[in-house]
Amino acid sequence: MKQTTPSSATTQHYPLTRLPGVGPSVAQKLARLGINTIADLLFHLPLRYQDRTRIAAIGSLRNGDEVTVRGEVQLSEIKYGRRRMLLSRISDGTGFLTLRFFHFSAQQQAKLARGVQVECFGEVRAGASGLEMVHPEHQQIDPATPPPNAARLTPVYPTTEGLRQLKLRALIQTLLNDPGLFNTHLEELLPTDMLHDIQLPALAAAVHYVHYPPADAPLATLQSGEHPMQQRLAFEELLAHQLSLRLLRRRQEKRPAPALSGEGLMQKALLDALPFALTHAQQRVAEEIRHDLQQPHPMQRLVQGDVGSGKTIVAALAALQAVEAGFQVAVMAPTELLAEQHRNNFTAWLAPLGVAVHWLSGKTKGAARRETLAAMAEGSAQVIVGTQALFQEEVAYAHLGLVIIDEQHRFGVHQRLSLRDKGRDNDGYPHQLVMTATPIPRTLAQTAYADLDLSIIDELPPGRSPVETVVIAEQRRDEVVARLHKACREGRQAYWVCPLVEESEKLQCQAAQETAEALQAALSDLRIGLVHGRLKAAEKTAVMACFKAGELDLLVATTVIEVGVDVPNATLMVIDNAERLGLSQLHQLRGRVGRGAGQSSCVLLYGAGLSKTARARLAILRESNDGFVVAQKDLEIRGPGELLGTRQTGLVNLRIADLQRDHALIPQVARCADTLLRNHPTLVGPLLQRWLGDGLRYGKV
Ligand code: ADP
Ligand code: MG
Repeated sequence: MKQTTPSSATTQHYPLTRLPGVGPSVAQKLARLGINTIADLLFHLPLRYQDRTRIAAIGSLRNGDEVTVRGEVQLSEIKYGRRRMLLSRISDGTGFLTLRFFHFSAQQQAKLARGVQVECFGEVRAGASGLEMVHPEHQQIDPATPPPNAARLTPVYPTTEGLRQLKLRALIQTLLNDPGLFNTHLEELLPTDMLHDIQLPALAAAVHYVHYPPADAPLATLQSGEHPMQQRLAFEELLAHQLSLRLLRRRQEKRPAPALSGEGLMQKALLDALPFALTHAQQRVAEEIRHDLQQPHPMQRLVQGDVGSGKTIVAALAALQAVEAGFQVAVMAPTELLAEQHRNNFTAWLAPLGVAVHWLSGKTKGAARRETLAAMAEGSAQVIVGTQALFQEEVAYAHLGLVIIDEQHRFGVHQRLSLRDKGRDNDGYPHQLVMTATPIPRTLAQTAYADLDLSIIDELPPGRSPVETVVIAEQRRDEVVARLHKACREGRQAYWVCPLVEESEKLQCQAAQETAEALQAALSDLRIGLVHGRLKAAEKTAVMACFKAGELDLLVATTVIEVGVDVPNATLMVIDNAERLGLSQLHQLRGRVGRGAGQSSCVLLYGAGLSKTARARLAILRESNDGFVVAQKDLEIRGPGELLGTRQTGLVNLRIADLQRDHALIPQVARCADTLLRNHPTLVGPLLQRWLGDGLRYGKV
């Protein structure tokens, strides 16, 4: 149920079933489309438009045109090919067009008799014997009737089974023609001076236009969603999202958190013990975090840094600040393997300083689990590294001061919030530090993470040489294997990655297993290991340890090694079926090599029949080693949902706006959000209600 706000209390309770033509069954179908209110119906926008305003000359038709034509039936006959069909040939004097029907009644056949004048609407296709329309809409006409000359383009809506396009059109048309209904449900919420300032039209005008554009509207602009009338709606939606994140953040800023102040002696001790000095970027970000942690309000900071930029040490420094102040730290990673890496690093760095580092994953069972849980609850466990298991129901902390989450994009905003609440105690809420290697383009970050502060580690540690990337067709696999063999014989180590073959972990593991066997058969003098998601944690750890110790030459793996694995001597990576992965994911995988001083390379193998565009996409990786460049291209190609991993989490659940298409609006959206919060706070509630409805809940925690 939608919540009500004072301004729309009456309208929210106006059920769709009160509209003429909407019974319970239609209402149910509308609900399937996410349409529960009159406003929802008005914001259910066309997918595309048909131009039925003109009658096209048959002689001018081209493959793919969607048009209305008129003509006289020259010939109608039933053909028996593989299927029985009715073929009618019409002409308007400028050319011939075939109408093809696979389903037809005798009655229909009679209507298309020779000499009859018909009007048809449909898509033109190039058939075997010239241009044709398959199952066009058609009707007999009196040649004397004037052309339809509809003044407007015809909308085509997204619909669902059992709900006809015509029905949906009629319903929306009813609303548009009823000024009373229309006005109460589409109240203009943006102040006039703001509209003037952003040079976008009023809401009512935009909604009218977008449903029924005039005949001379720029069709291409409309189809791509870039018409100012559409942008007006996208703008308002983006604004509502921005506002909800701002409010979320404001609430956070008012919450209490332990101020983690101290002399920083432990941090200094760690820095002194490190075999390297922090980069300038690491120092800057570490300082930003230090400052945040000293405040009596929870830090909400996102640290972005390309693979290998050294985020872990920055996180370890933050952890020490909390430990020194007497608080616990939870370090959470999305996978067992990555968590394991953190456990190793944190133990190596912090244990020598006397810090108790503990481990908890879903697979920690029995006595080990009981002991860890007890140590966490009484407070003797100071740093606890693990997976989501760290925040399960039965887990309790004595005094959690800081939560560190790696690879943020795999966790959604909801999860982040539930972690925060979990850590809540008498001292308030824990601070949160989230780290991601996905370099989110700025405009996207502003929209998706407007509730977080952003720090960027934009510098790699010295001495890294860029990974040389090549894109090679599967047919040349043997050459690649030979090259791999040579490299390993020279003492280098290598990865062979087998990505998801289908949406099945089982198949993926199987593919990796088969690849490992085939490679072992071909390269019998190499020591080859295998890791995949179905191995037991202990087995995985053992294989990784062997590889790290140089006891394996080649590691065959599924994408479980995507994040976190750190073996500087590994300088070659082969990625099988590279076309199946996103660019950012490939970039992260490739970040597993190029960690030592030696020249590293990455071979992207692609399967047969890859299109030119898909190859061009892979070539982006050959041309750039910069995660930001890769992410920007990835965004252009794949859209933001996948980049942010938000498809599943519903973080950016937009109805009309498209972050990629409309990114140019975002700076304005941000400015207008400020203005509204400052000068028109009463408009904020209704805007959120209109666009987020139930989704508001997360903003209210
Ligand atoms: P990521 O940002 O991908 O998580 P890591 O934190 O795993 O990167 O760091 C990658 C490697 O670089 C690790 O071996 C780490 O010890 C090392 N490293 C981090 N900072 C520096 C530095 N300033 N100088 C040299 N090596 C560094
Ligand atoms: Mg990392």
